[in-house]
Amino acid sequence: MPGRRPSRTLRVASIAGIDLRLDASWIVSLVILSYYAYAEITRTIVRSDAAVTTVAVSVALGLALVLCILAHELAHSLVARGYGLPVRGITLFAFGGVSQIEREAPDPASEYMVALAGPLMSIVIATVLGGVARLLNPGIEGLHGPWGAISRLNLWLAIFNLIPAFPMDGGRILRSLLWVVAHSRARATRWAANVGRGFATFLIASGVVVFGLSAIRGNGAAPNALWATFIGMFLYNAASASARIEGGERPDAPPPPTV
Ligand SMILES: [Zn+2]
Repeated sequence: MPGRRPSRTLRVASIAGIDLRLDASWIVSLVILSYYAYAEITRTIVRSDAAVTTVAVSVALGLALVLCILAHELAHSLVARGYGLPVRGITLFAFGGVSQIEREAPDPASEYMVALAGPLMSIVIATVLGGVARLLNPGIEGLHGPWGAISRLNLWLAIFNLIPAFPMDGGRILRSLLWVVAHSRARATRWAANVGRGFATFLIASGVVVFGLSAIRGNGAAPNALWATFIGMFLYNAASASARIEGGERPDAPPPPTV
């Protein structure tokens, strides 16, 4: 994905001067987010007699999660702009969203802050909606209802993004720290990209193994396993492309998108 301008995109809005575009593949992420919302609400909410209602609520929650991902990306983009980095826009696609920041951060501190802003926004949303869920369900342990479901999924979004696998947010934070140690962004990027490729390989391998086991046992883990494999492939390509750009093989290529 890095360097590749998302094709087939539709500009749908402009928020604070930042263009929001939808890639055709975005519909895949809406289906998957609705599926996660469905799994969450059927686990914690008394199942509605009408399956149609459950599906409609799941899709509504899927759309709400899309807005949460948008808020995560806006946090990256606005902090980047605050540091004077040009932001081309935000694109929602199959794996969630990316902020297209047109220049690499000039120093480790700005890289750190831009990377941290997204997960921080997801944690704030999780905390606020968790509070709402508790207020609406007094006396019940844990987070219940649709607000509780969105709160939990935002927390997962923050945790997953903070895994130190470049170019995910945690990997960018790792790169900023290595940058301080190595006094070289290129070297820090190569190290962080290697960690990213290691994690991506682990995701792909475990996805393939779990997919195979679920095919034998029929335990329903196949969709998650397949999804993990695809995310692993996306991350592996993105980490490799970043390493190539910093290695001087593609000096003219734009920086990888911020996820
Ligand atoms: Zn992010």
